[in-house]
Amino acid sequence: MNLSHRITHITPDGTDGWAVFFKARALKAAGHPVVELTIGEHDIRTDPTILGAMHTAALSGHTGYADIAGTPALRAAVAQRIAQTTGVETTPANIIITPGGQSALHAAHTAVCNPGDTALYIDPYYVTYPGTIRSVGAIPRAIAAHPDAGFQPRATDVAAQASGATSLLINTPNNPTGAVYGQGTLQGLAQVCHDHDLWLISDEVYDSQIWQGHHISPRALPDMAARTLVVGSMSKSHAMTGSRVGWICAPEAVIAHLVTLATHTTYGVPGYIQDAALFALNQGAALETKVAAPFVRRRQITQSILATQTIVHASPMQGAMYVMLDIRATGLSGTAFANALLDEHYIATLPGESFGSAAAGHIRVAMTVADAPYTAALRTLLDFAAARAG
Ligand code: PMP
Repeated sequence: MNLSHRITHITPDGTDGWAVFFKARALKAAGHPVVELTIGEHDIRTDPTILGAMHTAALSGHTGYADIAGTPALRAAVAQRIAQTTGVETTPANIIITPGGQSALHAAHTAVCNPGDTALYIDPYYVTYPGTIRSVGAIPRAIAAHPDAGFQPRATDVAAQASGATSLLINTPNNPTGAVYGQGTLQGLAQVCHDHDLWLISDEVYDSQIWQGHHISPRALPDMAARTLVVGSMSKSHAMTGSRVGWICAPEAVIAHLVTLATHTTYGVPGYIQDAALFALNQGAALETKVAAPFVRRRQITQSILATQTIVHASPMQGAMYVMLDIRATGLSGTAFANALLDEHYIATLPGESFGSAAAGHIRVAMTVADAPYTAALRTLLDFAAARAG
């Protein structure tokens, strides 16, 4: 009996970039005091008021099948948030609620790619991207964004790879680099989408975590709404990672097909989770600012500690909960650095190479532990880098 090529080739080499993470978890399970600066998960939990809303909704009976497209109230609230923040007219018919951003990424690629189509994405990339593209039968094609350009992708580089492609996936604010794409970057990418008739899948799950500049949704650029599918999520903005609730914002006709897809795959998102998400969105920007506050503090801590030395350099820390550190002066690869730092000091970071070849010689630090251990770990990391640099 053979399994399908599609499912066995999601990660063709059997790895998905998380090797150091799993090693760190194993060390931790064996009792070692590992500081985990690896995954994009807040050290605070979901706000108790959101859990209260979830509890109330469940007790009041919203535990049966919910509307597959999402509850009308949540679709309206998401549409309103997007209309307010981007200025683009958005109605509930432009929104489908999904079980998190990851399933939205999968559904968006299912919507626009036929098996065998080429789907573009930017390297460095969030680790699931190439596997998500393969899982719909499409062929991933990476386009490098370079550290010397602050990891902003160049339109000319995308155009050079765009011939015959169907879609382009971008992510701003960016995981893993912390880059926030500027107006010029996005206009250039939008032009490539027009010139090559590409769908744009815009992953904006970090849109509430901007430290420098502004979040620009490419759907708001001229003539882009008709070819853009925006992926959103409550995971990062509201510390609701485990609740699995996100959305796609797209043209009405795309959403109608996505509802058919959901009918045959997820069958929607639990009603009490949607009610909790609605409650959370109704708290407005204040709650999003509260959830983002620890990263604002740790970004400042990072900047002041980095300023005390010259070996390790951070890419512009413009948004999201990560710092991409250039450790090339140590002479080590990101993988060697991350492994040695874990083995010798029980500090877990992820190698840049986990996120593609463009981030080689870098490590990604997630600012997701409390300020004091974060500060101590960062100092140890820099001492380690200085010793290796000789
Ligand atoms: N996109 C990016 C860039 C991410 O970093 C993540 C999670 N780390 C996701 C999408 C998926 O998030 P979720 O499924 O929790 O919404």
